[in-house]
Amino acid sequence: MSRTAGAGRTAGAGRTAGAGRAVVRRPRHAVAERPFLVIWEATRACPLACLHCRATAQPARDPRELDGAQARRVMDGVAAFGRPAPLFVITGGDPFQRPDLCELVAYGTGLGLRVAVSPSGTPTLTRANLAAVREAGAVAVSLSLDGSAAGRHDAFRGMPGVFDRTLDGWRAARELGLKVQINTTVTRDSLTDLADIAALVRREGAMLWSGFLLVPTGRGGGLGALSAAETEDVLHFLYDCGAAMAVKTTEGHHFRRVALQRAVLDAKGERPALGPLYRLLSRRAAGLGLFDGERRAVRRPPLDVSAGRGFAFVSHTGEVHPSGFLPVSAGNVKDVPLTAVYRESELFTRLRDPGLLRGACGACEFKAVCGGSRSRAYAATGDVLAPDPYCDYRPGGFPYQDEVRALLGTDPSKRAESCVQSS
Ligand code: SF4
Repeated sequence: MSRTAGAGRTAGAGRTAGAGRAVVRRPRHAVAERPFLVIWEATRACPLACLHCRATAQPARDPRELDGAQARRVMDGVAAFGRPAPLFVITGGDPFQRPDLCELVAYGTGLGLRVAVSPSGTPTLTRANLAAVREAGAVAVSLSLDGSAAGRHDAFRGMPGVFDRTLDGWRAARELGLKVQINTTVTRDSLTDLADIAALVRREGAMLWSGFLLVPTGRGGGLGALSAAETEDVLHFLYDCGAAMAVKTTEGHHFRRVALQRAVLDAKGERPALGPLYRLLSRRAAGLGLFDGERRAVRRPPLDVSAGRGFAFVSHTGEVHPSGFLPVSAGNVKDVPLTAVYRESELFTRLRDPGLLRGACGACEFKAVCGGSRSRAYAATGDVLAPDPYCDYRPGGFPYQDEVRALLGTDPSKRAESCVQSS
């Protein structure tokens, strides 16, 4: 049985799981037809040397990068998925290294895309540059915060001054009316700082805080991996934080399993049995007053999208990947329309079939709404359908299977219906 199945009771009975309230959200449209989110890596150029960098970013721009005309064709391809158009995120490297960034933001906005930009904490992260992308039509930015203080963050990012620039950019972005998502990489180094980072995010204000569960690819391959038990503690801590702020995970798909389990346990007035890291983070959060004061009226349910299923990534050279952390290409936008790669390629269609998953993920009653990180499975084994090595759950280990089935629908091998809300 998973450690999450243990029980201690809370005061009073919880509400009925799922009663009128979504536990997991999914895109309103069929994800086999249209992604919810497309991320384009505008450049790999970046002066930082972050320890985890997926892109193994370099100081200079790659001459093979998509040029402006090719980038516009990528956005034409995103718009061709139809309305509502996928969210289009321009990432890097540092996207501000591209002199045509604002022009491209304006082009995408003109096509009806909601465009977000993901800058690095470099000297280009200025109020003027943020104002320019806002003026061009960008609706949101995402910024990285991997430590609660300059020493920790700057050590991770490989350069002094990044923490201060990030905070200045964060405040400027909010003042300019941009929505801000804060991304925190969960590594062995940042583990014990998570409660302090959460408190900082709550204090400064953000639309969303995302805990990124490291995928050992790019420079991140050299960082120490978490154990599955530690990951479980982190996911439950992030779930607790969801009472105070909007929280999501990146490459932490089993957060959806945790949300379902916690909904069932809450309804029974029970608590999960977790490990020492969870207790440490909870104590620290309580000491910081993280859960004091105003709470969210409605918890933000995690969104049911995964690599190739609601999500696509276009690399700086035009290769289309199911995720930015899964270095397998299903085609290049210079040769094949993005819509065709997403809808018809063997890689993407296989990833959308939970019946093909192997090992624990294949046997898991949560697979249709979780499925694990395909990127991490690939990084660990070279097999995109292998089990997620960061998951502590043993299929069938949760004691309230009837309640899970009720949330997932009568046939657990089919897409979840009753637990989800379209968004
Ligand atoms: S075993 Fe796989 S499908 Fe099941 S909860 Fe874990 S990661 Fe998700």
